[in-house]
Amino acid sequence: MSRVIAAISTAPAPAGIGMVRLSGDGAVEIASKIFRPRSKTRSLEKTPGYTALYGWVYDADGDIDECVALVFRAPHSYTGEDVVELTCHGGLYLLQRTLRAAIDAGARPAEPGEFTKRAFVNGNLDLTGAEAVMDIIAANGRMAAKTALAAREGALYRKMRGVLDELTTAAANLSAFVDYPDDDIPELQPAALKEILQNARLALGGLLKNYDAGRVVREGIDTVIVGRPNVGKSTLMNLLAGYERSIVTSVAGTTRDIVEDTIRLGDIVLRLADTAGQRETSDEVESIGVRRARERMERAELVLAVFDGAEQLNDDDMALAKAAAGQPSIAVINKADIGININEEYIQNLFKHTVIISAQKGEGLEQLEQAVREVTGVAALNESEPLLATERQRDCAKRCLECVNEAIEALDMGYTLDAVGVSIDGAIGALLELTGERATEAVVDKVFERFCVGK
Ligand code: GDP
Ligand code: MG
Repeated sequence: MSRVIAAISTAPAPAGIGMVRLSGDGAVEIASKIFRPRSKTRSLEKTPGYTALYGWVYDADGDIDECVALVFRAPHSYTGEDVVELTCHGGLYLLQRTLRAAIDAGARPAEPGEFTKRAFVNGNLDLTGAEAVMDIIAANGRMAAKTALAAREGALYRKMRGVLDELTTAAANLSAFVDYPDDDIPELQPAALKEILQNARLALGGLLKNYDAGRVVREGIDTVIVGRPNVGKSTLMNLLAGYERSIVTSVAGTTRDIVEDTIRLGDIVLRLADTAGQRETSDEVESIGVRRARERMERAELVLAVFDGAEQLNDDDMALAKAAAGQPSIAVINKADIGININEEYIQNLFKHTVIISAQKGEGLEQLEQAVREVTGVAALNESEPLLATERQRDCAKRCLECVNEAIEALDMGYTLDAVGVSIDGAIGALLELTGERATEAVVDKVFERFCVGK
């Protein structure tokens, strides 16, 4: 099978420009069979890296389109191989015909993520950097893009490499001492060994602690707005959405089904669901809505429990407050413009986070945003610190931490250095899996499965 892969690397939609990419040993030769430079004195095959030629891409039926061919020479390319990018107009027919021409000339269609997989195999990226590529593409905000770019540039890799180097030095010392106890090998003092392990524990513990907050930054959070009828849930929904998403009236029971929208609050994307007001009702449709709201609340990742600040809490409010406070939640006391009559203390005793707003006047959004950042842990994230970005990475880090803890325990219990060494080896293995240096083919394949074709 051909070593040269080809794919359309731009989006499958009409656009100003579109690009077919070829990579592999022989990519330039294959591209030169379907590309004719305008200048007769030039040829793709003689073109050095980082150089573009203007001309036409063509097949057996004739010219397909005008084209700019950009040549990269191994190892100075994304994949580390020879790469040619054929850029023409972004018409789907043109791009598909160009791809077909490349395949007829000897390339084969690339699999999902195969360009990035080759970059990984050729050592241009570690596995965490490769995983970050999809997060860069999917980034829906400033912070998500920033952390993904840092990971792509090796921030997590470097942090893990630091821990790995320490543990490897410790392991080498230990095994030398165990194998040649009588030789004059400087013994790693238990105190120094313990310090190395404790540093590793600190680094891994910090990463694991921030995992959920990092996920919120990358993927957003399922959020539900609940409360008894008429407290202003739909008004809040509309304020956050920036338009009249939900119907607002002074009639209790207006919202009957779940109304959804995706909105951004600062750095965080909320997948919002506005629900029917929680109350006992004999109306059949409304009571279905009330049940749906309860179910949605139970599986939401964040609950915004809305109360009418102008009124005293009633039984429906209290029942709802108790149910909501058991989950990651924020109490939202609304209608602050009318004046506060509500028993604030009752709410504050139940909820860790309370904000006072006027949804109608659009006041209090900054406080709500800050509360969301705190509940989700995003406020505590240090933007210059790397984050674990996938379940796979989290699992490796968790296993590594378990081994480090075992090693510390073995040291404290006065076990033989042999036993300590076994746990340290386990920790090293988990870290090498995290960076991809010792990941199985199945693991690597799984990472690239979630990529799109052309990346
Ligand atoms: P829901 O039943 O909880 O969805 O409540 P709605 O959003 O439909 O609002 C019920 C009534 O309260 C409407 O008449 C709104 O105009 C009013 N309302 C909502 N928020 C505020 C607010 O912040 N201040 C005041 N004064 N009225 C509000
Ligand atoms: Mg409503």
